[in-house]
Amino acid sequence: MNLILLHEKDEIGQGRVRLQGRRLKHVLTVHRATIGDELRVGKINGLIGTGKVIGLDEQELVMDIQLDRQPPEPLPITLLLALPRPKMLKRILQSVSSLGVKKIFLINSYRVDKSFWGSPLLQPETLNEHLILGLEQACDTVLPDIHLRPRFKPFVEDDLAEICNGTRGYVAHPNVEMTCPCGVNQPVTLAIGPEGGFIPYEVEMLQAHGLTPVSLGERILRVETAVPVILSRLTP
Ligand code: SAM
Repeated sequence: MNLILLHEKDEIGQGRVRLQGRRLKHVLTVHRATIGDELRVGKINGLIGTGKVIGLDEQELVMDIQLDRQPPEPLPITLLLALPRPKMLKRILQSVSSLGVKKIFLINSYRVDKSFWGSPLLQPETLNEHLILGLEQACDTVLPDIHLRPRFKPFVEDDLAEICNGTRGYVAHPNVEMTCPCGVNQPVTLAIGPEGGFIPYEVEMLQAHGLTPVSLGERILRVETAVPVILSRLTP
């Protein structure tokens, strides 16, 4: 936790916050802060600044905060991610959130196991918990928007044109001719397949709706590896 993310409910007065639970525990055991220390804080969807510790014990952390800086620039990439298994999804959400992705669509695909859509992880609060861990890691405050699209065809036919509007669209797919470009100076819409990959019909549909299939080379990467590799490659 390189930044302590503050929520409205933490405020106990003008410029003063009180924290308990996970964030208190982290400050006690990792930061090992004491009264008078200054910690990096940020308000969810707001500014970044410092929090001066004015009270700290096993029950609560009280800080006086000053927020005066903008969070880092977002990554102009919309991610369409075929829903991975829950354990992997947790890690991917944290890493894409820390890399600055602000719009995520979790989409269905023939090779997505149906049971994944019933996972309690897909509850909005739980998804946000993992996105928040990524923001805290990267010193960002802006919570990504995340959308669930459990039907592939209606998503592609009804939503994709609007999502892709004004962006360069790619679908990462091994063994295609075109190599994934580097440093794209334009917003991007990027689709990443499931563990078993997109089936040919899905690649054709995505292609027909504006996404160009691109390869990262002959090594086939796990989804959680492919995602950060391709995001950093596309970033100018
Ligand atoms: N057997 C699957 C196939 O051939 O499509 C492998 C799927 S891979 C484990 C999961 C996803 O990661 C792929 O659908 C793709 O989006 C992305 N990916 C992994 N390695 C890739 C590569 N070398 N080039 C492009 N995309 C890749």
